[in-house]
Amino acid sequence: MNLQSEVEKIPKKNIRLIQKLLMEWAQEYQTPFPWQDNLNPYYALVAGVCAQQTQMSRILEIFDRWIVAFPTIAKAANASRAEVLTVWGNAGYPRRAVNLHKTLQICINDHAGIIPCDEESLIQLPGVGPFTTAIIQIFGYGMDKTAIDTNITRIYGRLFCGDLQPINESDPKLIQAIATQLLPTKKAHIWNPTLMDFGATICTAKPKCNICILKKICLARPKLDSGVTLLPTKKSKTFKNSNRYWRGKILKILREKNSGFENFNRENLIESLSKDLDTQVKLNKLIDDLAKEELIWLYKNYIGLGDHPISNNKHSNISHNKYVDS
Ligand code: SF4
Repeated sequence: MNLQSEVEKIPKKNIRLIQKLLMEWAQEYQTPFPWQDNLNPYYALVAGVCAQQTQMSRILEIFDRWIVAFPTIAKAANASRAEVLTVWGNAGYPRRAVNLHKTLQICINDHAGIIPCDEESLIQLPGVGPFTTAIIQIFGYGMDKTAIDTNITRIYGRLFCGDLQPINESDPKLIQAIATQLLPTKKAHIWNPTLMDFGATICTAKPKCNICILKKICLARPKLDSGVTLLPTKKSKTFKNSNRYWRGKILKILREKNSGFENFNRENLIESLSKDLDTQVKLNKLIDDLAKEELIWLYKNYIGLGDHPISNNKHSNISHNKYVDS
């Protein structure tokens, strides 16, 4: 498929109409984000990391908590891993907090205390992929880009390809080409949040076509109107007793216990969580995994959040080096 010719098939008047309608919709309904207008690359990085695999409604909560605790890059870089994980709290996928912490330390050490703006440098930072790179470039440096997420893929895949479930059906390269074509000049900082919000509220997994401002030009609409049923989205596995459930429990106990140098006896921790022998075997394995992921430390029979404050010198720079804002 020639992407360029596919994109050129989109009538210019439709592009202008979609831009106009969505911008009007944004003025009325879109919630402004604290990182949207101030060209702050640090805020943009934190927002990008918070937005990975997280629903829009929760992103603000995590972002606010992080910025209040660590208002500058140096403050975050100087924090211990345990402090960072405590601030991250129960926001889920705590590996993101570890990566963010490492990224900020790299920015201080290797990039003169600033978040880089070029794609080549950004993509090498821990936990920074194409989506977060685009978020930093848009909101931190005012570049004209689209940060493709599931919401944007769903809207463009339905509008222009007629796909009902674009996450599974649409060609990601075509979505990227469409996104580039649709992006209004110098408005990426408004356009991206608008699309993300529109996908989270109107063009959702079960789209609200009857109230959609784009319904007259949407290629998926006739199929949806003809009664095609959308395949149910993948049923999520039961959370209780899942690995994520137990990992969350372990980290919660350690967060609550943690006050810098305090630690916990591994066996006591496991027994406090479950008396069931099979579950205890599972917990032992999960504790080893958490240590490998650098979310907790293990020393003899003790266990604690983040890096060991003294004995584990693998990340000793965290305890001993002090970073300053550039
Ligand atoms: S008409 Fe329906 S499918 Fe098309 S963009 Fe609007 S909400 Fe999405």
